[in-house]
Amino acid sequence: MHELPVMREVLEVVLKHARKHRVEQVHAVQMRVGEMSDLEEEWMQRYFDHLSKGTVAEGAKLKIERVPAAMECRSCGHRFNLDLTSRERIACPRCTSRDCLLISGREYTIVNLEAV
Ligand SMILES: [Zn+2]
Repeated sequence: MHELPVMREVLEVVLKHARKHRVEQVHAVQMRVGEMSDLEEEWMQRYFDHLSKGTVAEGAKLKIERVPAAMECRSCGHRFNLDLTSRERIACPRCTSRDCLLISGREYTIVNLEAV
């Protein structure tokens, strides 16, 4: 259940931000989550609900946007988005090298808070 420590961290950031801006109630938390991340939205929301009880973020809805994973070709330096629907092996669309690195896609970021 790796969503739990992640959501604890997210809530901490949310509450810190809420305090700083004297927010009374957080309605929604917009997040971006990399497509390669194995965080599940349902569990994220469930843990968030649990952790945020009694705080200004109680009842806030997580709005999660999945962002495509980015790859970088080690042969030519070309950057491209990973197509997860493709069953072919990953190869650089420019030089067809298979020597590619995942440079993003597992990260999560808080984009915005909707609050009163
Ligand atoms: Zn390449």
